[in-house]
Amino acid sequence: MNLTNFRFETDSDGIAVATWDMPGRSMNVITPEVMADLDAIIDAVVADAAVKGCVITSGKEGSFSGGADLTMLQGLRTLYEGLAKERGEEAAMQTFFDESRRLTLLYRKLETAGKPFVAAVHGVCLGGAFELALACHHRVLCDHDATRVGLPEIKVGLFPGAGGTQRVARLMQTGDALQMLFKGDQIRPLMARNMGLVHQVVPHADLLETAKAYIRNGGAAVAPWDQKGFKTPSGKVFSAAGMQIWPPANAIYRRETNDNYPAAKAILQAVYEGLQLPMDLALKVESRYFAKILRTPEAAAMIRTLFLSMGELNKGARRPEGVAPTTIRKVGVLGAGFMGAGVAYVTANAGMEVVLLDRDMEAAEKGKAYSHKLVSDQIMKGRAKSADRDALLARIKTTSDYADLADCDLIVEAVFEDPAVKAEVVQKVEAVIRPDCIFGTNTSTLPITGLAKASKRPENYIGIHFFSPVERMMLVEIIMGKATGDAALAAALDYVRAIKKTPIVVNDARGFFANRCVGAYILEGHKMLAEGVPAAMIENAGKAAGMPVGPLSLNDEVALDLALKIVKATKAQVGADAVDPAQEELLVRMVEREGRLGRKNRKGFYDYPEGGKKRLWPGLAGLQPKHKEGELIDFEELKSRLLVAQAVEAARVFEEGVVTDPREADVGSILGFGFAPFTGGVLSYIDMMGARAFVEMCRGLEAKHGPRFSPPRMLVEMASTGGTFYGRAKRAA
Ligand code: NAD
Repeated sequence: MNLTNFRFETDSDGIAVATWDMPGRSMNVITPEVMADLDAIIDAVVADAAVKGCVITSGKEGSFSGGADLTMLQGLRTLYEGLAKERGEEAAMQTFFDESRRLTLLYRKLETAGKPFVAAVHGVCLGGAFELALACHHRVLCDHDATRVGLPEIKVGLFPGAGGTQRVARLMQTGDALQMLFKGDQIRPLMARNMGLVHQVVPHADLLETAKAYIRNGGAAVAPWDQKGFKTPSGKVFSAAGMQIWPPANAIYRRETNDNYPAAKAILQAVYEGLQLPMDLALKVESRYFAKILRTPEAAAMIRTLFLSMGELNKGARRPEGVAPTTIRKVGVLGAGFMGAGVAYVTANAGMEVVLLDRDMEAAEKGKAYSHKLVSDQIMKGRAKSADRDALLARIKTTSDYADLADCDLIVEAVFEDPAVKAEVVQKVEAVIRPDCIFGTNTSTLPITGLAKASKRPENYIGIHFFSPVERMMLVEIIMGKATGDAALAAALDYVRAIKKTPIVVNDARGFFANRCVGAYILEGHKMLAEGVPAAMIENAGKAAGMPVGPLSLNDEVALDLALKIVKATKAQVGADAVDPAQEELLVRMVEREGRLGRKNRKGFYDYPEGGKKRLWPGLAGLQPKHKEGELIDFEELKSRLLVAQAVEAARVFEEGVVTDPREADVGSILGFGFAPFTGGVLSYIDMMGARAFVEMCRGLEAKHGPRFSPPRMLVEMASTGGTFYGRAKRAA
């Protein structure tokens, strides 16, 4: 047998072991070549009477496989588009359907081959790879910390289309299966066993032997659902029990997705229909939905942004060429407040030494205590050991003495948002650090070029803008001042990579990228409130449009006094025209007259009762100059306004050259402020509907609501030429 991606050996007991180990790759992925090898392996196992069964395992040190190669799936879309032009829609659809279900048929062939197949899994085993394991007759997991199984396809707008929906729904209660498929979580070994997804969890040293033992001891070569009398765990769909499941499942789907995710709906449909059919037909139903979902613009946009672009940015797509990798051993964090404490934690957690400096030891210690709390929470959840906490805390040295920063490789400054304080700090730091030490400021609003004026080495001065809470938010905005050099950029990117976050690189401007779009979202919420739209309707429109929270809720998180401070600073520095009077008035009333600062003082647009659920503040209606009847308000228009306001701002940011790469705008918008992920991000949202339709929408909203919706010139040009942001970027490259 001529295999490229597997080693195949049979032992003296007649048990074959197929070891998946793709040459030249750190992780196994499913490609057409892997499928061909697997096909040959199944044939060989069946054909050789001396072979009793086969164990499938991985030859990679820390992983089984990450699943299907998503670029291969993207390729299928392109194939379809080409064929549709050449041979017409129907022929294209047939080929597309056949191609997109090859994996399904291959796994079914394995499952029905008549000899037992066993998956022996260590490390991550996700997506199509876990579907392979599910098709095996027995699944053994190694109990190592890094072992995870799961079906995360939903996170890129797809769903498990190689039998995953059908096998999972036959292994566990329907409600649990749907939840697992909707969430796409990575599941730890013991949990996977408790859920009934795998059969055994054993130490690594016993993995192969345990898997072989299943075959040696005459384990069944027939899946439960192919055995006579098989009953699904939740019983029949059309039964009293089934009727307890499906209506709530539909409601939960609506609540969680607002019907924005075609893949989530397809999961519901595939499971609902599939559970009423025998396996082969059920798989065909799943394949039909899969072929449909693979062709949706949502899947294309999500795969591009959340898999391809994010991967490229994580691997250093924006790193300047020719700069040697920076070794960052020690990081000085200035200011141990809300942000500094989080930065210290993520840095120490990544194994770097941290010097956490504040004005006095008490403040510095308070910042360090945050790390203690975070690791303790992890310990409570069984995700860390007390030794991890000790080691992490030992890496954080608290101080109020600048001399302790002397041998730092990088500084992250997170002191008060005040140019004078920041200037004083940079001078004190530069008096002690090495000349090659990079200085990053976490300012959220102050232009970097201006702040760098206080530095003796502006080429080493850069913006490293985290989002709160630092330990949870995966985006870091890197901001280039006018004088920032390549070494600083490379070091900042290397640091972000080390703490396993995703960087975007932007040029210097007020609000940079993310905060400008977020500001537009919040402003739109304030405008709606001032127009008399009921607050609950505004919030629901935000969520229905696909945002994680409504604009008023988001403002509460950011803090209303901060929003007012930014409005006042903008007015002072740019001019009265740069701020919206209705917004200013609303914020002044909330903050200065009502003392409502947001979640931080439990009083904002919402009330936050101790131990209770937040609820909109009943006094809001009293602040509205007028009231509109809910029934007379166009809800779809509210939704559009909330997304368009952000997208048109993103287009402006792009036109101004603050963001230069659409991948960064898209990834940044989803990771940074949760812009409706099903769109693929702010610029994909425009590309998806087409610049012409978007400009038309802007013009309509501009006529009704004012110039904040006025489309920038670049968009108008794109509308007339039929251009796209990604098309422009491709041409420029
Ligand atoms: P904070 O008030 O919680 O913390 C600031 C800390 O800096 C305090 O502990 C203070 O004692 C310390 N400090 C002040 N002057 C100092 C000095 N001269 N030397 C040493 N320490 C000093 O503020 P924060 O929310 O953590 O914000 C810090 C920075 O991060 C600001 O620039 C802010 O704009 C930015 N930022 C904040 C957020 C956010 O959501 N809060 C998000 C992104 C960026």
